[in-house]
Amino acid sequence: MIQPMKNLLWCLVYTITRLPSASALFLVMLVVWPALCQAGQWRVHFVDVGYGDAIILESPDQEVTLIDAGGREGGAKLKTYLSHNAITTIHRALLTHPHDNHCLGFEQIAPLIVSKELLTNGDANGDDACRQLTGRLGAQGFTMRIVKSGDRLIDSPSGSLHVLHPQALEGGLNENSLVLWLNTGGLDFLFTADIGPTQQQDLMRRHPALANARVVQLPHHGGDLAAGWMEFFSKAHFVASTGPNPYGLPLTSTMNAAGRRISRTDIDGTKVFYDP
Ligand SMILES: [Zn+2]
Repeated sequence: MIQPMKNLLWCLVYTITRLPSASALFLVMLVVWPALCQAGQWRVHFVDVGYGDAIILESPDQEVTLIDAGGREGGAKLKTYLSHNAITTIHRALLTHPHDNHCLGFEQIAPLIVSKELLTNGDANGDDACRQLTGRLGAQGFTMRIVKSGDRLIDSPSGSLHVLHPQALEGGLNENSLVLWLNTGGLDFLFTADIGPTQQQDLMRRHPALANARVVQLPHHGGDLAAGWMEFFSKAHFVASTGPNPYGLPLTSTMNAAGRRISRTDIDGTKVFYDP
């Protein structure tokens, strides 16, 4: 079945299952449903914030989710980017793990986050400056809410956002990163933050359906990959969120493995995907 028809059918089923009565169903069929199911599109921005992550998800109904905010300089870039794209409100904000180059940008972005909530993996460790920042945000009225594998953060006819990792905080800061799957029924996006090969292997084993993802962030700014990663994601275009750094990232071996199926924020700049 072609994708727009699939989306409409799912939207109809979703709507019906939430209705109280048959008369309400009739009303919805006539009036509300066409508007509810109006074709929209997801826009997913991998923002160039230097060596760090910042990813914006805009849903078809204009709800904005932010995954990480880059470092201090990255946060300034992100703020400018949001402004240039007329994004003035962030409805949901996630910090994948408490490393400065994913975290410190939230200082400048915090005023835009209307939920006054930061979704985290709950790791009590982290870079000092990041921990101080989350402390300051808490003093400003922000709540830190822990999410984990199995949580569904968005559940709408146009798509769902799932937390796939971690199940428990068993690794280092990078290994405990939140991994998120945006399932639109179209491109499908996998956001991997900084997980390592062991966690990558676990993801492929636990979630065979991820093989359908069409856009996959390369873990840890283009770092080490698990054996079989490229073959598993044979349908995907890859994105490396990266910039100048002293760690030799992205790895030449990883870039060679990706071949021409990759966009790099340090070379190509901010990359935006439109779905459908
Ligand atoms: Zn990182």
